[in-house]
Amino acid sequence: MERKVVGRFAPSPSGYLHLGNLLAMLLAWLDCRAQKGTLLFRLEDLDPARSKPQFAAAMAEDLRWLGLDWDRGWPEDGAYAQSGRTARYEAAFEKLQALDLVYPCWCSRAQRLAAASALAPGEAQHDPGCPCARLSQKERAARLLTGRAPAWKLRSPDQWITVEDGHYGAQTQNPARERGDWVIRRADGVFAYQLAVSVDDMEMGVTRVVRGRDLLDSSPRQKWLIETLGGQAPSYCHAPLLVDGGGKLSKRLGSLSTQSLRREMGPETLVGKLAFLAGLRETDAPVTPRELLGDFDWARVKTEDIPIGE
Ligand code: GLU
Repeated sequence: MERKVVGRFAPSPSGYLHLGNLLAMLLAWLDCRAQKGTLLFRLEDLDPARSKPQFAAAMAEDLRWLGLDWDRGWPEDGAYAQSGRTARYEAAFEKLQALDLVYPCWCSRAQRLAAASALAPGEAQHDPGCPCARLSQKERAARLLTGRAPAWKLRSPDQWITVEDGHYGAQTQNPARERGDWVIRRADGVFAYQLAVSVDDMEMGVTRVVRGRDLLDSSPRQKWLIETLGGQAPSYCHAPLLVDGGGKLSKRLGSLSTQSLRREMGPETLVGKLAFLAGLRETDAPVTPRELLGDFDWARVKTEDIPIGE
C-alpha cells in the first residue's frame, strides 16, 4: 500500500538560515505540497554547544514569512526537538548494541580522520587504522573500566546499498569499504547526526526526505540504519546547492542571512529569485510558493550546483 507522503524541514539552529537552506526548504515544501502530504518541522538541536534558541526561533519565523508552512512540529510541539528525544536515541543505541553493531572507541579526532583516509577501496575492512575496532571483549571491558569515556562507533555493513534518489538517480555505496565505521555517540554522550536523523525519520513516519545534496552521500547509510532498526526507509530526493559564483553579488547574497535579506526585499521577491536560480522560472519575477505549486516539476530543477552572483 502507498504510504501517505510525510515530508519534513529539519534545520539545525546553529546559525541563521541562508539562501542555500531556503532553496532546499522551498523544494521540500513544493515536493510535499504537490503530493498533498503532511509536512513536519523538526528542530535538529542535538548539539547543545552549537544550538542557540534565538536561531531556532528565527528559522521558524523566516520560513513562515516566506510562505512555507508546516502541519506539525516545533515550536508548537516540543516533541519535535531533538534535544528532548535523547531517550529515543538511547533505545535505538541499545538495540544496535544488542545486535553487536556498536563498539567503544578511544581514538582522538585526528586519529579518526587518519583512519578514514587509510581506507583502501575494494577491501572489506572496518577502520583499518583504528585499534579500537579490533580489541577483544576482555580488552574492551578493561579499558571501559579505566575511566576515560569513549565515543561509540557503528560497525558499518559490508554490503552494497542502493538508494534511488528522486533527483540524482541511483546512489550505491558499500559503507564498510567506502566509508568505514562511524561515530554514533560522542564521548560527551551526545548522539551523532546519522543516528538521530535516522531514528527521527523512522519514528516520525517520514516517507520523503528532501534536502541539500551535501547529504546525498549519507542516504545509503541512513536507509540501512532505519532498516536495521526495523523501520521502513523514506524515499530521498536531493536538491542542488548554491555555490559561490565568484562575483560580488555571490559574496553578498550567499553570505547574507535570511534575517538581513528580509530587510532588503519582500518574501515574493526572494521566492522569485530562488525559483529562478533553481530553474523553476525563466525570470526572477516575484512569485509566491503557492503559485509555484501549479506547475512544479523536479524535471525542471537543475541538477548541477548553482553559482550565484557571477
Ligand atoms: N539538520 C541538517 C542541516 O541543517 C539537515 C539534516 C537532514 O535533512 O537530514 O543541515
